[in-house]
Amino acid sequence: NYTLGPKISDWDEKRAMWLASNPGFPSRISGGKPRMLLVTGSPPNPCDNAIGDHYLLKGMKNKIDYCRLHGIEIVHNMAHLDKELAGYWAKLPLIRRLMISHPEIEWIWWMDSDALFTDMAFEIPLSKYNSHNLVVHGYPDLIFDQHSWIGLNTGSFLLRNCQWSLDLLDAWAPMGPKGPIRDEAGRILTAALKGRPAFEADDQSALIYLLLSQQEKWGDKVFIENSYYLHGYWAGLVDKYEEMMDKYHPGLGDERWPFVTHFVGCKPCGSYGDYPVERCLSSMERAFNFADNQVLRLYGFTHKGLASPKIKRIRNETASPLEVLDKLNPQARIVSQ
Ligand code: UDP
Ligand code: MN
Repeated sequence: NYTLGPKISDWDEKRAMWLASNPGFPSRISGGKPRMLLVTGSPPNPCDNAIGDHYLLKGMKNKIDYCRLHGIEIVHNMAHLDKELAGYWAKLPLIRRLMISHPEIEWIWWMDSDALFTDMAFEIPLSKYNSHNLVVHGYPDLIFDQHSWIGLNTGSFLLRNCQWSLDLLDAWAPMGPKGPIRDEAGRILTAALKGRPAFEADDQSALIYLLLSQQEKWGDKVFIENSYYLHGYWAGLVDKYEEMMDKYHPGLGDERWPFVTHFVGCKPCGSYGDYPVERCLSSMERAFNFADNQVLRLYGFTHKGLASPKIKRIRNETASPLEVLDKLNPQARIVSQ
């Protein structure tokens, strides 16, 4: 039977002791925010198309910008820590490894490489999740009434560094090993979940299946979030950015100004996807520039248009820059555009 590693059962006590004896590594940062680590990754080898690597780089720049502005640490992984859990399953052993290697981290935030921050001002309302350990974007009725395979999305989710989460990863992983196990599990998932095509087991379906089959065990610590786009499906968003810029401002995080735009079904790095690659790439370019404008603006520039990497100045140069810099912190300056 597959396991992620030696069973750990006293992590909450061990971690609390470690934190008490390592005051130089507090689990809260200045301002009292819980210490957060954003984790993403990409395959160990080059993309099938060179343009895929370029968009991976843009995705990483976008994440670095967001994390820098909000005091979040960041990891980009390119290794397969466990070769049985290659591909989309690779996040599980990685998250576990990072949790036990960094007791100072309170929340791990997994984000797919093909998900971009499109609201540079929005912050996760962490205090809302004080009594939860997993926060994932989804719709309870789609999951629990319809058993839909897209009832939640595992492209962007938060997991608290605690024993509960290690237990969840242990319960989540067994469908993942590549080969006959993953193939057979895929058949079970397709039979159980509405709308799921026939293919090998994926981490998203496996999580939904786990929540459905063991709801009493996990349910009360899982927060199914849909009041803002912790994950936002790109196809409904990318054509509306100009309208959003006319009517709204960053900081809202919902359909008015989506926090995250996730390119589900686009695979610019791999050889096949569900959408024409040209549509994916031009949409990614728009999402990237929409977000990048919010960053460039801090420095007096903006993209000439959402389709263009070219930029223009929006303020004149000045010899007394601090007079222009208002008293607002970067987050407030992004909102007040
Ligand atoms: N991923 C990774 N290593 C791999 C393959 C995927 O770290 O070898 C990550 C990557 O961030 C990707 C996510 O896992 O966005 C989900 O993988 P998938 O193949 O499902 O791509 P997506 O659904 O995001 O197109
Ligand atoms: Mn994805």
